[in-house]
Amino acid sequence: MTGQLECSPLDVRHDGFLDLVPRGARPRRLMSGAAWTEGPVWVPEGDYVLFSDIPNDRLLRWSESQGGSVALQPAGFMNGHTLDLDGRVICCEHGERRITRLEPDGSVVALAERYGGRRLNSPNDVVVKSDGTIWFTDPPYGILSDREGHKAESELGDNYVFRFDPVEGELTVATDLVEEPNGLAFSPDEQLLYVSDTSAALRSEGGNHHIVAFDVQGGRYLANARVFAEITPGIPDGFRVDVHGNVFTSAGDGIQVFAPDAKLLGKILIPETVSNCVFGGPDLTRLYITATSSLYAIDLTTQGAVRRPLEKGG
Ligand code: MG
Repeated sequence: MTGQLECSPLDVRHDGFLDLVPRGARPRRLMSGAAWTEGPVWVPEGDYVLFSDIPNDRLLRWSESQGGSVALQPAGFMNGHTLDLDGRVICCEHGERRITRLEPDGSVVALAERYGGRRLNSPNDVVVKSDGTIWFTDPPYGILSDREGHKAESELGDNYVFRFDPVEGELTVATDLVEEPNGLAFSPDEQLLYVSDTSAALRSEGGNHHIVAFDVQGGRYLANARVFAEITPGIPDGFRVDVHGNVFTSAGDGIQVFAPDAKLLGKILIPETVSNCVFGGPDLTRLYITATSSLYAIDLTTQGAVRRPLEKGG
């Protein structure tokens, strides 16, 4: 089923919300029929969004001109995606438990698979910093069962946020302080890294469902971990930051929008559990939302933050 939703989908908690999301904005359901959508990435060169349907081991594609199609199947049980500074797609793969890069000819290049000789758990979500380094989370969700990967024991015995330097080929632990790290995003000035902790997803009681903020020091070290926002209902799976530093996070009831000072500005209500989102379209003013079986989009007045390469030698 596709089409525009009937009831008002905006839950305005603060006037500032309407500076980001126009009062008449309505999410459109673009595509449906997936088992669990995740990991959307906007590919400007092709004018399309790629996203995962993890249990069906598919990478899906949607464009305004061509609609929906299967881009890759099998797809290594891909989860999160992002673009590197050259516009290539970086992928988290549960299946082979690694970070990969999609080449223009369709081949897949492995970037990071092991830490200290041990296999990664199941990379979940990924971002690229303006210095080209690749930061990703590695919780166990892809090895707990055969639904979103292959059931296996953790070799690392812990869940890290990693930083990978593709020039040096060096993989380092950015932090071990987040119990089960899931989504992540930098603030526009890259002084902050937000990481969600979704350990509640696995437990009937207790567990975390919040976003942690870290100070990024020297471009590579994380310090001063503090809870930025508790997300209810549901969990903060994936999220993105707009050009003003507002956090657009997945939640059980839709997309929740938090100002940089952690004030809840409002919500875009979605009738399915949301997993993630990405800013797309020519001006990055359209928010694509992966939610359970479907892909949605809503047109905003704010736009996504863009990672620009650091000046060479600067
Ligand atoms: Mg995730």
